[in-house]
Amino acid sequence: MSGAEQRRERLKAVYEEARRCERCALKDTRSTVVFGSGNANAELMFVGEAPGANEDRMGLPFVGQAGRLLDRLLGEIGLERRDVFVANVLQCRPPDNRDPHPREIEACQDYLYRKVELIEPVMICTLGNFATKLLRGDPTGISRLHGREEVRVVGARAVRLYPLYHPAAALYTPSMLETLRGDFHRIPALLALGAPAQPPPPPAGPEDERIEPHSRPEDPERGAGPSPGARERGRNGAGESGRAPAPAVAQLGLF
Ligand code: URA
Repeated sequence: MSGAEQRRERLKAVYEEARRCERCALKDTRSTVVFGSGNANAELMFVGEAPGANEDRMGLPFVGQAGRLLDRLLGEIGLERRDVFVANVLQCRPPDNRDPHPREIEACQDYLYRKVELIEPVMICTLGNFATKLLRGDPTGISRLHGREEVRVVGARAVRLYPLYHPAAALYTPSMLETLRGDFHRIPALLALGAPAQPPPPPAGPEDERIEPHSRPEDPERGAGPSPGARERGRNGAGESGRAPAPAVAQLGLF
């Protein structure tokens, strides 16, 4: 089995666990667990806030109006959903689309870190405040941070973290949409920088180390270089053939 196939299989195993999740009270109100969708071998990952009504119904992230804007912006930089992986801070819809509660974020974050560890993205775009605050481990808001890339360790993985306005916020505010579009158009150049240097693996112990609950800035002394995953899959996760394999699990939306 190739490394890319192994990654998909491992991600499917996490999905099987997530779809039965009962870690918080959202289990009682959700219709479906929205695990995330896209390319398990993507170099570029997007993390939004939480599923809405459409996502809850379909089991896929960003399938409503905000999702259509996301698709449009991706198209403007020559990408499609099949090139990237899209997930959320929460995998289950909060009732009435209320903000995620801290205990829900805490219960769900391990799934997100496991996705990041398995997919090994070069870059993560956080969409809006909740994803940005969680993955930076810091309360600074999106209006100060949008469009400012930095190298952070997320879980056990060093990535280029790139906060963006949430597409839903930009839908009805033209000036915010133009800012989001400007930030978005920098993605190809940032991706072309390749993967940042990875932190040293944790010391081997009697038991596996848990994934850290949030990120920390990367050591600027360490040099950059492509990740093993990036080398294998080539640009934008499409692999050398320019096309990723067909979906393995339709509901998961993996390509
Ligand atoms: N908004 C989000 O943050 N995530 C979705 O999946 C849909 C809308």
